[in-house]
Amino acid sequence: MQSLPAMHTLLDTPCFAGCDKSVLKALANELLEECRQNQHTYENLAQWCNQLQARYEALLAPPFKKVYNATGVLLSTNLGRAPLESGALRELEIVNGYVDLEVDLQSTKRFERAFQAQNLLKAIFNAPDALILNNNASALVLVASAFAPKSKRKQTLLSYGQLVEIGGGFRAHELLDSVTHLKLVGSTNKTYLRDYRDACNDASELIVSVHWSNFSMEGFVASVPSKSLFSLAQEKDLIFYEDLGSMQSVEDTKKALKRTHLLSFSADKLLGSAQAGIVLGNKTHIEALRTHPLYRAFRVDKITLFLLTKTLQGCLQGQKTPIEIFLAQDKDALLNKALKLHRALSDLKALKAFVIPTQARVGGGVQGGLLESFGVQIQAGMDVKALYHILYKRGVAGVMRANCVVLDMYALFEKDISTIAQHIREVLEASA
Ligand SMILES: *Cc1c(COP(=O)(O)O)cnc(C)c1O
Repeated sequence: MQSLPAMHTLLDTPCFAGCDKSVLKALANELLEECRQNQHTYENLAQWCNQLQARYEALLAPPFKKVYNATGVLLSTNLGRAPLESGALRELEIVNGYVDLEVDLQSTKRFERAFQAQNLLKAIFNAPDALILNNNASALVLVASAFAPKSKRKQTLLSYGQLVEIGGGFRAHELLDSVTHLKLVGSTNKTYLRDYRDACNDASELIVSVHWSNFSMEGFVASVPSKSLFSLAQEKDLIFYEDLGSMQSVEDTKKALKRTHLLSFSADKLLGSAQAGIVLGNKTHIEALRTHPLYRAFRVDKITLFLLTKTLQGCLQGQKTPIEIFLAQDKDALLNKALKLHRALSDLKALKAFVIPTQARVGGGVQGGLLESFGVQIQAGMDVKALYHILYKRGVAGVMRANCVVLDMYALFEKDISTIAQHIREVLEASA
């Protein structure tokens, strides 16, 4: 193996004039260490410099690049889940300066930062009280820590049938297990009320129900309705908490609230807002969460709070979120989007494009049937993987199907269709 360049040789190269030397040195150290470990080397100094420069520039690249979501999945964690309502984002400029986050300008007194958003939640969901956290995962941790802490040998009941993985390796029961003694009841496919009843003992404080979100079970199955779990909890003086993940409507959530002490969901999944976790319940229980020391670790910042408040205000005024607008698309609207893209590509001789029926999904761990949709299937005289990757690099995220790429219309904004056509055009021109 050729020897690695000396640090000073690298750093003194003219191309790094104007770069921060200590940052550069840290990056160079990392690069040299990687090469030492992988027994890799570059042929000349210019190549070393290119590598280092690429890493330096990557640090200064814009945090996000725009993506055209042609995957047919509305809420994709990889693509930032819910698209945000643009009006609210324009108004976000206010946080440029100082804001009245925790002070009432009228009385000059300090006040709770989430006061207004909590009031909106109470009004929209007809909830006695509400709490806002960073995400729904925090809600699981906070509820179990507050009501059935492991440190006090308290126990939480959960069905074996609810040991589910939501996505990205996220398992609600693993979070719970880190803060409470989990007492698993029933079996994978069948859990009865008597299983919960039999498992109750002096240490039991909490019954948790975790929604299946992203799968369903059929055949020889039985589970206990929330209403019965709520009754059992009341009878045994326990707390019943339901992690809804993301039910799709405000109405369903209101109904769920009537048969739980506490429930939580992801604000972005349900409302299409910035990511946050919402806990609803009665005053005593919410107050116990609000005054728990962990709340400080899970509370939201001013940017999330601003965006969430704007979304809730829109919701109160009957405004539709981008997600709701997508979900309300009928077949004609979807077909028209597909035809529009197809038409925009029609003069490209090197491209084979067809409009096809497709099936989209809500995604984001939301349970629900497939959504009828349309897509444009394209082939461009190159390997399908190559086409998929070249488009992806430009932010056009499609789906690979057998020997073609499918661009699903469901989660695409109509205004972006001509830009997507332009990207495809440029890809073909570059490969011609
Ligand atoms: C998505 C989901 C979560 C995690 O929510 P985050 O807001 O991503 O933390 C927890 N539980 C269920 C049932 C979910 O669907």
